Amino acid sequence: MSAIDDLPPLREVIRDHGLSALKSLGQNFLLDLNLTSRIARTAGRLEEMTVIEVGPGPGGLTRAILALGARKVVAVERDARCIAALGEVAARYPGRLEVVEGDALAIDHTSLVVPGERACIIANLPYNIATPLLVGWLSAEPWPPWYESLTLMFQREVAERIVAAPGTAHYGRLAVLAGWRGEARIAFDVPASAFVPPPKVTSSVVHLVPRPSPLPCPRPALERVTEAAFGQRRKMLRQSLKSLGVDTAGLLERAGIAPTERAEQVPVEGFVALANMWVAMRAEAAQAVSATNS
Ligand code: SAM
Repeated sequence: MSAIDDLPPLREVIRDHGLSALKSLGQNFLLDLNLTSRIARTAGRLEEMTVIEVGPGPGGLTRAILALGARKVVAVERDARCIAALGEVAARYPGRLEVVEGDALAIDHTSLVVPGERACIIANLPYNIATPLLVGWLSAEPWPPWYESLTLMFQREVAERIVAAPGTAHYGRLAVLAGWRGEARIAFDVPASAFVPPPKVTSSVVHLVPRPSPLPCPRPALERVTEAAFGQRRKMLRQSLKSLGVDTAGLLERAGIAPTERAEQVPVEGFVALANMWVAMRAEAAQAVSATNS
């Protein structure tokens, strides 16, 4: 593939702007623009999209997203040293790159997109904040969310936890949340040697498309039930769900789940049933108390 733009190679950008990688900011840069183009292409057609990118760093992925024709990129970067380098990318693509200097965990991402604009998120995430960012995006309210897809680089082990099926070792709270609200797949793996500096483990690009209509269920209740169930994942549910403060046997029976099941065997639909029944039983209990008191 020929050069994707006429900007300097990333090695030069890093050298000229003194961007030695900082471990504290999860900096593992991708210097191969063929690879960053592959990541950007995984997101699908970008022409009408506002792309939110977390952690553009020296701009390798940003450049690929812009070269592939994204209408606009809003890139949130915490490292002030990267801002000048990104300014050169912005100058190459006038009016199409907005750089926001700040902490992606502290920013309301909906404020970065003009209401009504089509948006997606593409990022080679800093690994230390990758899971909280994902959980935040999957917890968006209202649902369906403001973005059409997530295309994100994770450590392979985290990617496996996102796409895990029931009955497998990686299945847990993250898989339930991701599977309830979206359809996620691992698009491809990226070897450690592709990064500068190389991390200790293999990485994977995950592509997630939000479900337009997830099974109806209050998200906080689903979170509470999965917290209890997976908090003691080796125990049977009749034991692990005791902390929910309702009649556990009744809850499991009404949700249609055997009391001897363990959390990792229960599919997303089962957790949704448990969460809805838990809410119903708590409401019934509150009603019974108020009837007694009146
Ligand atoms: N996108 C670049 C690439 O692919 O080469 C850099 C990816 S590097 C894995 C993660 C980037 O996220 C770094 O540029 C780092 O400075 C930035 N970062 C770390 N913590 C951040 C935070 N809380 N908010 C925004 N950016 C952050």
